[in-house]
Formats: sequence, structure tokens, C-alpha cells
Amino acid sequence: MNEHDKPGHKATTRLLRAGRPHRGWVNTPVTRASTYIFDSVQQWRDTRSRRDQERLVSYGARGTDSTHALEDALVELEGGYRAKAYPTGQAAIATVLLAYLKSGDHVLITDAVYEPVRRFCSEHLARLGIEYSYYLPDGSDLAARLRPNTRMIYAECPGSLAYEMMDLPAVAGLARAHDCWLAVDNTWGSGLLYRPLALGADISIIAATKYLGGHADVMMGVAVTNERAWAPLERATVDFGQTVGADDAYLVLRGMRSMPARMAVHGRSAMRVADWLQSRPEVARVLCPALPGDPSHALWRRDCHGTNGLLSIEFAPGIEDADVERVIDAFKLFGLGASWGGFESLAVPAYMLRARSVADWTGRGAVLRLHIGLEDPEDLIADLEQALAALRR
Ligand SMILES: *Cc1c(COP(=O)(O)O)cnc(C)c1O
Repeated sequence: MNEHDKPGHKATTRLLRAGRPHRGWVNTPVTRASTYIFDSVQQWRDTRSRRDQERLVSYGARGTDSTHALEDALVELEGGYRAKAYPTGQAAIATVLLAYLKSGDHVLITDAVYEPVRRFCSEHLARLGIEYSYYLPDGSDLAARLRPNTRMIYAECPGSLAYEMMDLPAVAGLARAHDCWLAVDNTWGSGLLYRPLALGADISIIAATKYLGGHADVMMGVAVTNERAWAPLERATVDFGQTVGADDAYLVLRGMRSMPARMAVHGRSAMRVADWLQSRPEVARVLCPALPGDPSHALWRRDCHGTNGLLSIEFAPGIEDADVERVIDAFKLFGLGASWGGFESLAVPAYMLRARSVADWTGRGAVLRLHIGLEDPEDLIADLEQALAALRR
């Protein structure tokens, strides 16, 4: 586990205590609230004049004790200045893009981006006159793709589906030199395994629906920023009316308490399953930066603090998407469903030719994304073994 850069207790201990009430209850009680009653016009006016800069209670949409407790824990987790929560990860991404970009600006988006972001760009950034283009998942072509009007580099590290990494400190240096923002989708690392702000990013986004919630029962996205990036995000979040309910804030905060323990099991079981998969003739390679031999392994060793439950199988030549779909239909334990980061194991086909527009996937194998949950890994291996038999039928 990573030891954050503050003195005192270790990171896991600090995460358990962040956002706790000042006295009494171990976890923050749920504060469901819209209207806050002020004592006087003087207090009301004073609060309204300060609430854009300071964290004050003034109206439910701007924050309650529940969302403030969650914010404290997120700031601890990511090592940031302040944080905001959104109803989904996608909403967090959309708000971040619109908070910092205006008509005439250009944003560089990683080719390894969470796929629904592509449609947000083509439908909405385009409509608003914001230019966007994609760069290679390892960031090697970034410097050449910067334009005079590039105002943001949007990264996802490791990337979706194939988990490609980029040298984030180097990308942060480029962003600073070009005076543009660096935003990173950190759902893979979720603040435990990877900490973009410490590596030079301005904004870190996490789909809390995944490991923070951890139980497949809550939707949420969060964005944590450094001090210089805070004001534009705070304003846009308020102006777009983005907020989360107290019950959901409570669920995510509760999930975060056990996230280090869950993540350790996800990572250990994923490595056990990866070992087994790598011995199989149907498998060309297992995509995961924690595996020696993965193209991102050196960066993973340098910048990450462990791995999670995600693995993608790249199948051997001759195995087509339709064959992968038969494997999925044969699973008994792995479920077919969106998302990951909950306690259960999931499998979805990854259509890489569609999911990448700059990186070239022609000539590579069909891909199946697995999320290794908290089941006994030997049961998962047995399920994989019987499902892979579908390839021979
Ligand atoms: C799931 C996911 C999202 C979106 O989160 P939702 O809460 O499902 O909207 C964003 N980024 C990444 C990398 C994801 O895996």
C-alpha cells in the first residue's frame, strides 16, 4: 500500500478516519437535507458571499454534512485540495470537460479513453465549438499533437480495456510548459493504486461506482483537484446543478473504509488467475500492467502501488469475437454486465477495433475483459476452464 506524503499515521489508517464526525459515531450519519435555516439576514448574507470560496453549509445542492465527509475522505485518498461528487462517473467527466474548455479551445483525449466519452466529444464538444483529437495511449505522440489552442490534456492511466500506461510526470511537464490543464481518469487506481495529482495532474476523476462503492449498489463519480484547478470546477458543478444525495454519499464513504482490504484481495486473486491464463494455449497474452512482459510494466513498477481485479485476455490468432461471445455465454460464475469494482466477477467482450481510433489493433487477437471479484480464485479458474472449452465445440 502506498504511504502518502504526510507525517503521522499510514495511508490506510488515515483513510479509515477521514470524514469522521468530530465526536461520537464512527461513521458520519446521513444528513438528508435541502433547506438550511439561517439565524439572521446578516448570517445569510455573509454565508452567501463566502460560499464560493469556503466550504460552508448553505443549501443541500452545495453540500451537506454527508457530502462534506465524503469530500474529506476523497481529498485524503487522492492527496488533493478539494473534491466534488457527481451522480455518475460519466457526469464527473462531462462536467470536468465543460468546466475548463470553451468554444475555440482544443482538448487532446487519450485513445484508451472510457468509450462513452467519445460520444460526449462528438455530440457535445463538437456542438459547442470545442475541438478534440485523440493521442496514443502511451502519450508518445502528445508533444507533436499539441496545438496553440490546446487547453487540456485528458488522460486515462492505465487506459480502459488494455490498461496502457503513459509517463504521467512527463505528460504533466508538457502540460505545464504549454499552460494547459491535465485531467486524468483514475478509476483504475481509485486513489489507492495510482495518484495522478502527486504525479503532476491538476484534476483526478474516479468512477466511484467501481471500487469506492465496491458493492454494485451505488452510482457516483468524483473529481479531486489541486488548488489552482479548484475554482473553475466548483463553479461549473454548481452551475450545472451537479450534486449527490446523502444516502449515496454515505454508501460511497462506507465503501471506502474497506477499499484497501478489498483491493488487496482483488489484486492477489487477479494475479493467480492471470498465472493460470498465461499457461493456456487459447491465450496469446494477458493484458495487465502488473504482469512482467506487459509493455507498461516498467511504468507500473515506478508509479503504481499494486494492482486491481482487472485483466483482459487477448486470444490466440484464429479465435474471433463470435468465439469469445460463446465463452461468455458458457460462464457460470462470471456475470455479463457493465461496470466493475464490485465484489463479484464479471466478463464483457471488448471490441478493440472500435475502442481505439489512433492505436492500431489490426492483426491482434479478440479481447475479453475480466473483473476478478472476491470469490475464491480456484472457483473462478474452474469456471474459466469449463467456459474456454466452448472454443473447442
Ligand atoms: C465506469 C467508468 C466510468 C463511468 O462511470 P459511471 O459511474 O458508470 O458513469 C468512467 N471511467 C472509467 C475508466 C470507467 O471504468
